[in-house]
Amino acid sequence: MDSLPHNEDGASGSHLYMPWWLDNRKLDFPRGYHIEIGGGRRMPGFGTLGGVHLISGTNGGRQIVGGGYGKQLKDDYRRFYGAFVSFAGRGEMIPNADSYCELDPAVVDRWGIPALRFHFKWTEYEFQQVKHMQDTFRAIIKEMGGTPMSAMPSKESGYGIEAGGRIIHELGVTRMGNSPRSSVLNGHCQAHDVKNLFVADGGPFVSQADKNPTWTILALAMRTSEYIADARRKGEL
Ligand SMILES: Cc1cc2nc3c(=O)[nH]c(=O)nc-3n(C[C@H](O)[C@H](O)[C@H](O)COP(=O)(O)OP(=O)(O)OC[C@H]3O[C@@H](n4cnc5c(N)ncnc54)[C@H](O)[C@@H]3O)c2cc1C
Repeated sequence: MDSLPHNEDGASGSHLYMPWWLDNRKLDFPRGYHIEIGGGRRMPGFGTLGGVHLISGTNGGRQIVGGGYGKQLKDDYRRFYGAFVSFAGRGEMIPNADSYCELDPAVVDRWGIPALRFHFKWTEYEFQQVKHMQDTFRAIIKEMGGTPMSAMPSKESGYGIEAGGRIIHELGVTRMGNSPRSSVLNGHCQAHDVKNLFVADGGPFVSQADKNPTWTILALAMRTSEYIADARRKGEL
């Protein structure tokens, strides 16, 4: 707070990536997550400078000093500009038997093809992982001498976990595996049931690590293509 104006103010924002750092530790959830950290002295957003009017006069949440209008508000715009840091935790969900899709028995698309019906459920693993994120975000803020601007989300709210399907890295559905009972594709992304059907996209994933998926989608697609070319050469397809 109260930092001096800089020549490059508004030129950009910062974006930091903190990889998972607790591999092979005993925790109450498997796998891990990364943290995407935002903030900085970026161009103020459309509206009222990122909501400063909501905390004006509160000394950054520490104590009420009066204000919220006029000079106080203007001073606070200067005071809080660049003082906020935001955290987004992105973790791996462990696939579970309650999360799957199936053909809807009643709904069809406009061509009469049955639509997909999705079922989705978080488990304690994800809730524990998100609690760990929230505790970690607050610990980092405390270590930096900052003040968390929101209360720790309750257990009942799932510690603030997003609704399933809200984030942008959903994968799977036609997962690969050895058994046709629990998977659609074999290890070559080839359908167990239809030998000349291959899936070369995000469908074959059996899980989604916390990382962005596109490079792995491309690598799997390349591997699948090589397998198809090889099988064709041998006359197997
Ligand atoms: C906003 C956003 C940002 C992202 N940023 C990143 C990133 O920075 N890095 C990263 O690695 N990943 C990122 N992702 C994730 C990545 O884009 C996806 O994981 C990836 O595109 C999935 O590829 P896909 O081929 O499985 O599916 P899609 O790319 O969704 O392709 C599915 C295709 O099927 C078509 N389709 C659907 N139904 C039918 C039908 N009935 N008949 C014919 N065609 C149909 C759709 O039109 C679409 O073209 C991002 C995703 C979003 C939404």
